[in-house]
Amino acid sequence: MTNPFKVMIIGAGTGGLCLAQGLKADGIAVEVFERERTPTDRQGGYKLTISPTGNRALKECLPESVFQKLVQSSARVSQGVSFLDERLKPLLTIDLPNTDLGSVDCARPISRIALRQVLLEGLDDIVHFGKKFVCFDDTPEGQVTARFEDGTTTTGDLLVGADGANSYVRARLLPYTRRVETGVMAVSGKIGLNEEVRAVTPSAIFRGPTLMLGPRGSFLFANAMEYEDADASVPGSCPQANGGAVPSDDREEYVMWGFSARRERFAPFLNRDSSNAEALKTMVLTLMKDWDPGLRWLIQNSSAISTFSVKTAVPVPAWETRNVTLLGDALHNMTPFQGMGANAALRDAAALRRVLVSVDHGESPLLESLATYEREMIEYGFRAVRASLANMRLVHSKGIGRELTKLGFRLINLFPRLKEKFTNR
Ligand SMILES: Cc1cc2nc3c(=O)[nH]c(=O)nc-3n(C[C@H](O)[C@H](O)[C@H](O)COP(=O)(O)OP(=O)(O)OC[C@H]3O[C@@H](n4cnc5c(N)ncnc54)[C@H](O)[C@@H]3O)c2cc1C
Repeated sequence: MTNPFKVMIIGAGTGGLCLAQGLKADGIAVEVFERERTPTDRQGGYKLTISPTGNRALKECLPESVFQKLVQSSARVSQGVSFLDERLKPLLTIDLPNTDLGSVDCARPISRIALRQVLLEGLDDIVHFGKKFVCFDDTPEGQVTARFEDGTTTTGDLLVGADGANSYVRARLLPYTRRVETGVMAVSGKIGLNEEVRAVTPSAIFRGPTLMLGPRGSFLFANAMEYEDADASVPGSCPQANGGAVPSDDREEYVMWGFSARRERFAPFLNRDSSNAEALKTMVLTLMKDWDPGLRWLIQNSSAISTFSVKTAVPVPAWETRNVTLLGDALHNMTPFQGMGANAALRDAAALRRVLVSVDHGESPLLESLATYEREMIEYGFRAVRASLANMRLVHSKGIGRELTKLGFRLINLFPRLKEKFTNR
């Protein structure tokens, strides 16, 4: 029997693929359209940390064998989060619960490339690469048609915009929404782990996310990617999906870092050459001249240098629900200063899947259930946007604000109850 209800997802990113996995597992007709030509295009070399919220969503949507591949592809679980000053003096140390990689309660570091490979598992006939969505139209029968840059179209009952921060679906559905500059600029890079790098890297960075508050509102984030069995190939690693090559570096061990500050601090160095990797490193090292020499050495010897302006979505109220909806960064894109964007996208995917399963089973009407999904997603999604913005401001505070922030961290560090409250905020 053919299933009449068809879902079209724009974007084979974190949220879109998690939703596709969940719908496929429930026998709902679903297709995903991705603008990139292959699974590994433009994935960037950085990692994500999947929180317990993200893990639960993945556990709910993924077939057990795919969830196990996710576990096998994850890097070593973080033991703690450290806040330090620019000379590595501890401000606040938070111990994370001692969980194993298989637990949904762990903070699971995973490379973006590995995550996408796992999420593509078993979806070869559903995910279409090289399909850049441009707009949608209503059909006279009440369905929706998605149009692609190559002139092709597809029609279905629900269009889901999972197409990230610059979403074309959002631009068409909610043209009044805005994504604005925060005034913070970031430069990031990474350095492969070898004996010399291990010897120089501060020990906190091997324990987990390390947040360093420097002078004049400058900030450095660093974390190591290590695997329990670094030399082993991934057990049951994902087969090539849609013809894309399995990258050789998805178990690469490295230290990744991101330096950020208010844009005006970078201004004297920004010229035509400032997109060049060496120029970016020189700029960061100049701004970090008072920092610990080991950290400066790591940056000096790093590669994969890139820069971006930090932007954030402006919260919007609920809109009139129709047969086009959004998930993840397509609506509530946020700064990376709380590591929550991908986890929020995964939470959306699991919530939307629950709604669509009940619609498909005839248990609830589409628009009513979608409206509930959208209301809740707007609420927790923009709460995360606000929290990440507040965190961004905190770690870039200046002058007296900076001194108070550091004092606050030292005080929290002294009192376990305060620490617990800060950790669970
Ligand atoms: C440096 C950095 C570090 C981060 N670290 C973390 C972290 O540790 N934890 C965390 O939770 N989050 C983190 N994030 C945020 C996280 O990467 C995003 O929030 C998350 O990927 C959003 O998922 P998504 O599914 O909404 O969109 P994406 O994963 O961005 O996927 C969108 C997809 O849509 C495709 N697409 C776009 N336009 C079109 C179109 N017109 N047609 C077809 N396809 C299209 C894109 O190619 C992409 O594949 C980090 C972000 C950055 C920049």
